[in-house]
Amino acid sequence: MSDTNRLSIDQLNRRQFLGTLLASVTTLAIGGVSSHSAHAASASDPFTLPPLPWPDDALSPYISPDTIGFHYGKHHQGYVNNLNKLVAGTSMADQPLEAIIQATADKTDKTAIFNNAAQIWNHTFYWNSLKPKGGGKPTGSLIEHIEKDFNNFDAFKTEFARAAASQFGSGWAWLVKDGDKLIIVKTGNADTPIAHGQKPLLTIDVWEHAYYLDYQNRRADYIAAIMDHLINWEFAEQNLAA
Ligand code: MN
Repeated sequence: MSDTNRLSIDQLNRRQFLGTLLASVTTLAIGGVSSHSAHAASASDPFTLPPLPWPDDALSPYISPDTIGFHYGKHHQGYVNNLNKLVAGTSMADQPLEAIIQATADKTDKTAIFNNAAQIWNHTFYWNSLKPKGGGKPTGSLIEHIEKDFNNFDAFKTEFARAAASQFGSGWAWLVKDGDKLIIVKTGNADTPIAHGQKPLLTIDVWEHAYYLDYQNRRADYIAAIMDHLINWEFAEQNLAA
């Protein structure tokens, strides 16, 4: 597992040292987000909102601080708040997020827990899939895998953008390792490849809340901006190597 990924998972883990305090300080430090957050975090909450990997204006002009403020400060925080309420006083309050996701996938009486746990995980993975001055092409083993499984990089880019644009309604587009092969998958709503035995390398959130303030209905423009300017290929390379 990569350092970046391990960090994310540790941040999501209830055992994170001073997690609640650190998340609160970071939320205040990135300005703007704190004003949107109505979270009354308590030190006893098992799950905390992980800090963003960059300042809230770092992805501008492609993703605005306003979008980050709502998406991270309201939506991502909301999933954390919901899960804390749902697992309070249950054995799940002591489990890592991944274990909760895998235990509740396909359980019709645990849909709310699955949805909120998976959305916490998906969003942390999404923030790490983006970075300022990203885009371009991957290197090393990842580009070799992409060229083997998609013929060439441009064909991959086209297919990935098409998957992200064509996910009907809310959901996610992912590059995943499935067995020995890299494939592109779409998931609806909160669904996540880690519930299906696949190893995610990269994701784009295509819920409307991810782009509507900046792009309104132009989802394809949001996807193109990410592919050309924000995709964090180093994160994907680390995930592949993990
Ligand atoms: Mn989202």
